[in-house]
Amino acid sequence: MTQTHRSPLQVPCPRCRTPVQWVEENQFRPFCSERCKLIDLGAWADGAHRIAGEPAMDETEIDEMILRAERGEMGKDD
Ligand SMILES: [Zn+2]
Repeated sequence: MTQTHRSPLQVPCPRCRTPVQWVEENQFRPFCSERCKLIDLGAWADGAHRIAGEPAMDETEIDEMILRAERGEMGKDD
């Protein structure tokens, strides 16, 4: 083994695609900066909040409901 020196793994920042060195010193990894990390966590928390709260209908479910209503399947209790 002659290759003893390894360059640290580089990953693109999930927010802005800036190459980030995956090293212990980088406390914001995989993000390039605290700013990018906070933005991403904020976006994630926003989505998580929606999932954790009242089940919101997505467009697919709404389309399905409309289709059922048009077929006269609404309000039927099996
Ligand atoms: Zn970034």
